[in-house]
Amino acid sequence: MEEIKIMKLACKRHEFQTFCNHSPTALGWKAESASERIQQRFRALEIKSDFHMHTNFTDGDSSVQDMIRAANEKGLAKIAITEHIRAGSPWVDKYIEAVENGRKSSGSAVILGFETKLLDMNGTLDISKSAENRAELIVCSLHRIPGLNIMEGDTTIQKLDPHKTKEVYLEALRAICRNKSVDIIGHPFDLLHKFNITMPDETEMHNLASFIGAHGKAVEINTNYCVPPPEFIRICRFHGVKFSIGSDAHHASKVGDISWALEMLRSAGGNKNDVMDLMRSD
Ligand SMILES: [Zn+2]
Ligand SMILES: [Zn+2]
Repeated sequence: MEEIKIMKLACKRHEFQTFCNHSPTALGWKAESASERIQQRFRALEIKSDFHMHTNFTDGDSSVQDMIRAANEKGLAKIAITEHIRAGSPWVDKYIEAVENGRKSSGSAVILGFETKLLDMNGTLDISKSAENRAELIVCSLHRIPGLNIMEGDTTIQKLDPHKTKEVYLEALRAICRNKSVDIIGHPFDLLHKFNITMPDETEMHNLASFIGAHGKAVEINTNYCVPPPEFIRICRFHGVKFSIGSDAHHASKVGDISWALEMLRSAGGNKNDVMDLMRSD
């Protein structure tokens, strides 16, 4: 049977094209027909959750209500709104109120979440205790690497030893795992890829995935950043790590935009049983 090129799923961030252009044929399976069959496979996964999105409380363009409305219109079973938070964010109470009001009339289950970042290698998060206690879901992402003065868009990273930077990055991921409040590791490896830093080799990926699994954290498959790479998804599955599917939507039109993530999960042999289904009760 002739191998047919898989459709290219759009990725907003051109710098991540290498990851985004991983074709399923390159990953060892053959497409039997064109995009409609692929869409059927996505539906067959029965995954209708989106656990990563932002609103106009920070850098999103849409209100909480508009994001929930979009989730309803797209038939999503469950979403988590995961606003960027810092320890001093002044809008937290209003945000919680908006989410709690919005979900009263929502057909989709709506989880109150935050996306926070790691402050140090002890696992300290940039979130207040009160917000942490109210959160039903916490995504922790590395927007910078603690100990290295690197932030997204920072050119100093190019002057650093890439192997050292990779080691520090991996240690930061392990620090996230050590924090009991974190549920999901957000968009792993995006900084490494963005700054052309050496990716972990297979052994390092196995060690990391084993560590993540032992600490019960989920790994996010993020459609916005097109990470992590498929080989890491396969290795995580090997170690029994669960995944979170996230659009990282910053506009209502992008809610539920998870096709890339589902394609990666499916091509790694995954299915809905690999996806976390968390609603924190305490
Ligand atoms: Zn992020
Ligand atoms: Zn985000």
